[in-house]
Amino acid sequence: MRPTSPGYIKVVMTVIMLTLMVSVKHGLAVAGETALVNVRTGISGELTRFVIDLDGPADFRTFTLDDPARIVIDLSQVSRAMSERERGIDTGLIVRARFGTPAVDVTRVVLDLVEPGVVQDTLVLEPEGDYGHRIVLDIAPRVAPAPPDNTVEDDGILRPGIKPAPPVPIIVLDPGHGGPDPGAVGASGAHEKDIVLAAARELKAMLEETGRYHVVMTRDGDWILRLADRVLFARAAGADLFISIHADSIDNPAVRGTGVYTLSETASDKEAEALARNENRSDLIEGVDFVSIDYDPVTTNILIDLAQRDTKNASSEFAGILANELIRVTELRRNVHRFAGFRVLKAPDVPSVLIEMGFMSNPAEERLMRDRSWRRTFLAGVVRAIDTFMSSRRP
Ligand SMILES: [Zn+2]
Repeated sequence: MRPTSPGYIKVVMTVIMLTLMVSVKHGLAVAGETALVNVRTGISGELTRFVIDLDGPADFRTFTLDDPARIVIDLSQVSRAMSERERGIDTGLIVRARFGTPAVDVTRVVLDLVEPGVVQDTLVLEPEGDYGHRIVLDIAPRVAPAPPDNTVEDDGILRPGIKPAPPVPIIVLDPGHGGPDPGAVGASGAHEKDIVLAAARELKAMLEETGRYHVVMTRDGDWILRLADRVLFARAAGADLFISIHADSIDNPAVRGTGVYTLSETASDKEAEALARNENRSDLIEGVDFVSIDYDPVTTNILIDLAQRDTKNASSEFAGILANELIRVTELRRNVHRFAGFRVLKAPDVPSVLIEMGFMSNPAEERLMRDRSWRRTFLAGVVRAIDTFMSSRRP
């Protein structure tokens, strides 16, 4: 398969998704500020050992990304005592380590690998002798799991069978903004980032209750993510549907109502264009050092363009279904489905919509959005729309 063929893309997506699913691990929760002091590497047999030296305990998670192969370690409530932004390592699987600060109190370490790897073992060590607190990751080369239906073709070459599709559709929920970016600030002083996170968590629980979906969130805390990383996350998770959740704001406090948006190079109207410009500004927050995952979702490839067209149609179809459901539970804007150049909706192969639940700048609507029972009714409409959309796609 050529790297541009749709089959190739599908296989790569499946591999990335399976990796992401199995590799998210969490450390122990602790409070207080800790600093990253140093990193070290070593080799033990097949394993590449990566050691993070800290001056205190830390909460962390790791996940794996492909194309190119990377392991990402996010350390929560951890600052950096070292000033370097990257370090060449060249030990075992690791080519280099890069350091970033995706949120005020988060330090991110990205390991660039020579080939796909997995974190096989994680050790959290207390101070001992000359050593302080350490997180030790043992990284192994990833061996593709042998599918049960390997076949030997006429030419005698063993070829892996096609991996089965995941048993349930994967929905990625993307609460907007986070960390130093509050999004819109409401009449009461409430922040968009908190309301949309609450809504996303509730929607996740409601979707999982049905037993029909696997739900992944781009952020499940007060973190900021680059818009391109949200897209990357959706693709890496193998998303069948991506929903970015926001709440709007405008200088006229009388304006209210829910809006549903999809991607288009040309905006449906001036207001949608201004909204997209506003939402895209999330990548320009001062003092946040985003550079870390390195991903360019824009590919000028004809097959990607074709995939994009299919995806756009599916996104519009879902937006229409959503509007039909939401009109039963809340007030909608006139021309509820609009489109513009939202960067967070740019995955070429994942149907994506952005919901503006309502207006933070309208005091009555802000009160509704802060109300859990209103959100429940609203989100039940979203669940029904997902049910309708998914049953039409996976008969
Ligand atoms: Zn927003």
